[in-house]
Formats: sequence, structure tokens, C-alpha cells
Amino acid sequence: MSAPALTRPTAPPLADPHAGLPASAIGRRKSTLEIITLYVIVLVPFLALGAVVPAVWGWGLSWLDVGLAVGFYYLTLLGVTVGYHRHFTHGSFKATRPLRLALAAAGSMAIQGPVIQWVADHRRHHAFSDRAGDPHSPWRYGTDLRSLLKGMFHAHLGWLFDRRKTNQERYAPTCSRTAPWSPPASCSWCGRS
Ligand SMILES: [Zn+2]
Repeated sequence: MSAPALTRPTAPPLADPHAGLPASAIGRRKSTLEIITLYVIVLVPFLALGAVVPAVWGWGLSWLDVGLAVGFYYLTLLGVTVGYHRHFTHGSFKATRPLRLALAAAGSMAIQGPVIQWVADHRRHHAFSDRAGDPHSPWRYGTDLRSLLKGMFHAHLGWLFDRRKTNQERYAPTCSRTAPWSPPASCSWCGRS
């Protein structure tokens, strides 16, 4: 009787990242122009920063520069977390029209897409959290170290380059029919849909 053959453990096979999604979950595709614009907006500031650091190192960085960097970082961060996420997606609190406008503008500065698209993406994320169908699951590529690093990149930035957009009509129907600057009393935009 021969010994059983030993097989090397393998990583789980790549799941189809959109398996099991309802047909109406995906809306229109991102155009090539949108993708190119996204690359330019994401890459050019990094390249510019890389180019300027050696040129001005030791004399060119003032407290004003530091203040602008930190200030705008927190402005966009609050725009996404407080505005896009808590207010517009989940309707966690009420806001006056000027505040809604300010939150929408600050959130849009994070380059994560227009507010209504973000709301639809995030509601799809909650519907399929960390499973196939989640637009930005960190588990997308598997569980070994390399796959997790790829997944981390995808969850933070890579998902923005996915051409398949979440269908706004399915995941954010009241938002897609009105505007974020509509007075709160006149519509249910957006967290109460
Ligand atoms: Zn959420």
C-alpha cells in the first residue's frame, strides 16, 4: 500500500469579483476619457511632488506649505467621511443647504467620484461587504500576502479605475433624480431613500 500523495496547499482560486451580482447592479461603463482623466489627476500631483522635493529640499518648505497640506487633507477627509458617507449615503444627520453644499464640494475634492456615484458605490459595498460584488473589497485577490497587498491597493485606490460603474438608479434612486443642493425639506435626498 503506497503512501498518499502529498499535495502542496494552494491559494483559493480567484473568485469572479462580480459573481452573483444582479443584472441591474452595474450601470453605464466609465468612458476612456474618464479613465485617462483619472490617471492624470491621480498621478500628476505625485510626480510633481517627487520632482519638486529635491529641488526645494532644505529651504522651500514653509509652515504655510505644511498648513495647506494638512488643512486640505482634513478638508477632503471630512468631506468624504462626514459628507459623502455619513450624511449623503446613510442620512445619519440633517444638514442645512449651505452645509450640504459645502460637504458635497469638500467630498468631491477627494477624487473618489461624484457624490451620487459614490453613494451608489457605497450602498453596493454594504450590500456585498467583503464578498464578490463589493466594489472595493480588500479580499478580491485572495488571502496570501501578495494577494492581500494587491487587495489593499485595490480597496484604497485601484477600485476607482474599474470601468464598471454601480447603477445609480438601483442603489441611489432618489439621489439620481434630484440634486444634492436641493433644500432638505423638498426632497428625500439622499440617505432616506
Ligand atoms: Zn457605510
